[in-house]
Formats: sequence, structure tokens, C-alpha cells
Amino acid sequence: MKKMSRYSICSGPVICCILVLFSLMCGCVDTDTAPATDTAEQEEGITPPVCIPPQSEADFQEDLPPIHASEVSITVLYDNNVYDPHLQPDWGFSCLIKGCEKTILFDTGANGSLLLKNMEKLQVTPEEIDIIVLSHIHQDHTGGLESILKIKGDLTVYVLQSFPFALKEQIQGYGAHVIEVDHPVRVCSHVYTTGEIGAYISEQALIIRTDEGLVIITGCAHPGIVRIIQKAHDLLLSDIFMVMGGFHLQGATQSQIQEIIAQCQELGVQYAGPCHCSGDMAMVLFEQAYNTHYIPIGVGTIIYLGELE
Ligand SMILES: [Zn+2]
Ligand SMILES: [Zn+2]
Repeated sequence: MKKMSRYSICSGPVICCILVLFSLMCGCVDTDTAPATDTAEQEEGITPPVCIPPQSEADFQEDLPPIHASEVSITVLYDNNVYDPHLQPDWGFSCLIKGCEKTILFDTGANGSLLLKNMEKLQVTPEEIDIIVLSHIHQDHTGGLESILKIKGDLTVYVLQSFPFALKEQIQGYGAHVIEVDHPVRVCSHVYTTGEIGAYISEQALIIRTDEGLVIITGCAHPGIVRIIQKAHDLLLSDIFMVMGGFHLQGATQSQIQEIIAQCQELGVQYAGPCHCSGDMAMVLFEQAYNTHYIPIGVGTIIYLGELE
């Protein structure tokens, strides 16, 4: 990693300001807002202070057999839907993946103190997180990042290459190792990101390769949920066991949602768990279509993949 001498490492409030500046205006509800752009520093040609992993197809593949689905659990720490009434819902998304080689926090919700409170009630601590993957720049997915890094800075954060330069630098200022994602990469054994998808509001989704098939977790699915599923399938050439997260179907018509459900079924998605920005109508229609293979998701949901088999 290159050290930067020109820019000082600033304290917490600055990272908050950066997130607000670059993402508050780009809430997941509004798709008409402009995507985050790189900062002037990048335009000046200064090398970002981050390590970019090798991104060949060979790096994406591994010889290990898939992980047993029964070893993996996913805990929803932050969502605007209620599952466990003891937890506080709020607009945003975050979940914790346990059981793989590393413990992974996928997105961080909007509000750090609320994230920490929900984590405490779920008996999850920041110290146990090894890796954070941020799906996209929107504040309801990145807002809790600083609170985690303040408690545990010594972890690895996967960001999109298109994230603001200053934000990457601030994350590194907490001691975290920043990895920029452009192409699909392996995060740890059995876990991958799709790479940066979409040009307008670009995003990455997480893929877990299990013996039951692929588990795909999305933040908002701004590039399109079907596009993300298709990409995961094409990358790993495996059936899709489960898709969960924000499907971004608020505002979609019933016929549009039904077409998407049909496409999910054609792609072989066995279980579906739409939440966050999926919209009430989509959640109802997915539940009708998937029946016992529909996973109701809200803050506090704990999915033990082995129980879905
Ligand atoms: Zn969102
Ligand atoms: Zn979003």
C-alpha cells in the first residue's frame, strides 16, 4: 500500500461529512439522482492509497469444494422491515455472514449508533468482523461504517472502485485495508463479489458458493435484481439457492414485478428473501410465488442456510 503524504488522515466527523456529501443526496428511494463520482484528486491523476487486487478470471476461481450450506448463517442487523420486535427498524440494510472462512459484514445501515444497538441485542460485536463489503455508495448502506471502524479499524473493507477517493482514504485512516472492486473478486474462501455492476448507480453483490447452490445478497440491486442473479450464475456456473436483500422494486408495477419473479424462477432461484427497498407489493408477490420458499426478512432475521434445505 502506498502512503500518502499530501493528505492528512482526518478524524471521524470528516468521514461522516464525506459520506453525507457523496451519498445523502442519493438515497435508495430516488433513482433519478446522480451517482457518486470520483473526486478532483483522482482527476488530477494522483494514485489512490489503496491496494487493488489482481483481477483475472483465475483469481476468481478456486479449487475448494463448495461450503456446506449448514455451516453458514446470515443475520440481518439493519432493515426497514421488522422481524424481531425487540430491534429497531430503520431505512437501510446490513447483514452479517457467519460460518465462512471470514466473518463478513455486508453493508452498514444508515445510522451507526442504531446499528451498534441492534448488534448488541443480537449479541454481535464489531470485534468479530473480519471483512466489510459495501454494496454501493448510498448513505443507508454506508452510514454505519464509521461507528464500526472506530471500534475495530483493523479489518478489510471492500469498496467499489468508483467510490470517492477521499472516502477510501478516510477508511484507511482508521487502519483498515481498503480493496477497490472493479471486476469480480474472491473475498475469502467460498465468498465473492460480483464486481461493479451498472454505470448509473453502480453496485456489487455478495455471492456465497454453497453445496446447495449460490446465495446472493444484494444491497439495493440498483442495476437490476435479474441482472445481478444472471451475473452471479454466469460467473460461478452454479444453480441459485437463495437471493436476499433489496430488490429495488418500489414503484414497479404488478406486471413488471411478476415478470421479474418469472425470470428469477427461470434462473432457478430456489429461495427468495426480498427486503429493504423491494417494496410491499414485490414482497407480497414474491411470497405468493415462492410460498414456503419465501423468506420473510426484517431486522433481526437469522437465516440458517441448513434449515432451508
Ligand atoms: Zn438502500
Ligand atoms: Zn441504494
